[in-house]
Amino acid sequence: MKINRFPDYDTLCAGVAAEVVEQLRRKPNSLLVFPTGNTPLGLFKKLVALSQSGVANFAQARIVILDEYAGLPANDPRSLTDWLKRELLTPVAVQPENIFGFENGITGIEDQIKSQGGLDLVILGLGPNGHLGFNEPGSPFDSRTRSIDLTPESIKSNAAYWGSEDLVPRQGMTLGLGTLCEAIKIILMVSGASKQNVLSQTLNGKISPALPATVLRHLQHAHVFADVRASHYAKGLGE
Ligand code: PGA
Repeated sequence: MKINRFPDYDTLCAGVAAEVVEQLRRKPNSLLVFPTGNTPLGLFKKLVALSQSGVANFAQARIVILDEYAGLPANDPRSLTDWLKRELLTPVAVQPENIFGFENGITGIEDQIKSQGGLDLVILGLGPNGHLGFNEPGSPFDSRTRSIDLTPESIKSNAAYWGSEDLVPRQGMTLGLGTLCEAIKIILMVSGASKQNVLSQTLNGKISPALPATVLRHLQHAHVFADVRASHYAKGLGE
């Protein structure tokens, strides 16, 4: 795992955006995964601007949805798929037929990834509990796409989107850790002082399913892109 450190959130987002632009330039129909949450919002703004100015071209891009709540009706505006469409996929004009999500549950997702030639670039956020997508603590490193019970931490951190913790679904569906690690390139995007601890654990702590992000530690094709505030304790590591 290599670390790219950026002075602030804006340059971090620009750095990740440049990777996406370059990936699409090299392979216009790249199979991509994007995270949900607060961390990628600045990245999405940059990608929308780059798409509008003709620098980023998503005309042939293909997207696999990272994770989703279980049990929501199709097109529920609170679904993670709908959120990603609103924040990124629709503004950059990804073709609807090129978006592969959990409309039929987890059925067929792994086959879809395989038949599309495998994941090219996966961008992930780092959960406060070290989760990647909805791969919560305890997720086996070789796990595949599956349904999973959300942890109290994840329910709590998602409550802001639902109005209260009681309303957050208790189950999710997620691409597995094993599935994600098979991508050609993985970027873990980390910002802010609130992530210092969990990033430090990811880089220095015990490699264990108890902290799912540690699955990335020994992968040559995994890169941490972090701002200085998040990587304060990680200084000098991984470079
Ligand atoms: P955040 O979420 O970007 O809102 O911190 C990250 C995550 O839980 O994956």
